[in-house]
Amino acid sequence: MLRLIGSTARTRVWVIRMSVDLQPLPVAVEPSDEESGLGFLLRCSHANGIALQFLANHAGVRSLRWMVPRDIDTLAYLAGVSPNWLGQRVKTRRQVNGRRQYSYLGWEWGSIASLRVKQPQVCPECLAEYAICRAEWDVAMISACPVHRALLIDRCPHCGMRLTWSRPAIDVCCCGRYLRRSGREHHLSRDEMSWCQTLSARLKGKHLARAVEPPTIQLPEWIFHVSPDGASRLVHALGALSKPGQCLSSAKVVEIPSPSELAEVVERGLARGRMLQEQSIEFRRSIRVLIYEPGLQRLARQGVVFEDQQAAVQLMKFLDCESLDLVERERRRGGRPTKGQLELFQDAGA
Ligand SMILES: [Zn+2]
Ligand SMILES: [Zn+2]
Repeated sequence: MLRLIGSTARTRVWVIRMSVDLQPLPVAVEPSDEESGLGFLLRCSHANGIALQFLANHAGVRSLRWMVPRDIDTLAYLAGVSPNWLGQRVKTRRQVNGRRQYSYLGWEWGSIASLRVKQPQVCPECLAEYAICRAEWDVAMISACPVHRALLIDRCPHCGMRLTWSRPAIDVCCCGRYLRRSGREHHLSRDEMSWCQTLSARLKGKHLARAVEPPTIQLPEWIFHVSPDGASRLVHALGALSKPGQCLSSAKVVEIPSPSELAEVVERGLARGRMLQEQSIEFRRSIRVLIYEPGLQRLARQGVVFEDQQAAVQLMKFLDCESLDLVERERRRGGRPTKGQLELFQDAGA
């Protein structure tokens, strides 16, 4: 049967699709534990001379951004890997208590802004050296490569366009040129390096022992007490505003900033986190105008794990945020938290 099953803006590909069951791709590609699912599938497509979108169409996948179990099973079969391996490395979403919740790398994520869904970023040196797309690059607050001590890039240095998963190969832009760094203008601070290293390790170390004591705002230790989503959102709330009282539109909040913009957010967030530890109560109150409070409110209400919610509540108490009363009232009305947790909040920060 001759059918048009895949097309791009540039080319239309006519293929012969046999009306038989799907078969694994002829050229098998060795997966790496370090790589993202979409990066692996792009390598598979490239090795077999087809576009990733073509592979998705062939498999009947409706969205590469958000996959459903059937998509994962089919693509895993075609690519010759286990569905479990692939399922951990692609993004999925579902409704939890009437809200969207996302899964990636075995972790739950409560904010779409924590993940890079549409606009991938890469370290060109890693691509050249290891020939894989690292899984942690799809986490928004990872803005740099600790191995090569450089910012990731999310635009092609030649044509200036944002990178996409429809590029022909992991290291080639849609414009046909290799992704190479044009320069190293940005000097990475020790905070950024430390943050990226710690968050990357945290992403991989799901089974790291979790301390049982309440989280503190010490840095960087506290990120071991909250989920990667919670850590990302806390640092974002601390560092998102560049000047006092700045307003962030909701569109701006879900928009994915460039790696250099995010690196600045991380640097400010960590520096302010340190200030909070060292300064007096009056100082903490005065610094409140520099904190993105709606981000803390959302985390307190909707954190994916209790530790995240508790950390946000503690930080709000620490900052003497007036909106904390409202958040706690809403939580009581909504039946969350469960029995015993309110007492913990009341003890926190005492
Ligand atoms: Zn690198
Ligand atoms: Zn390009």
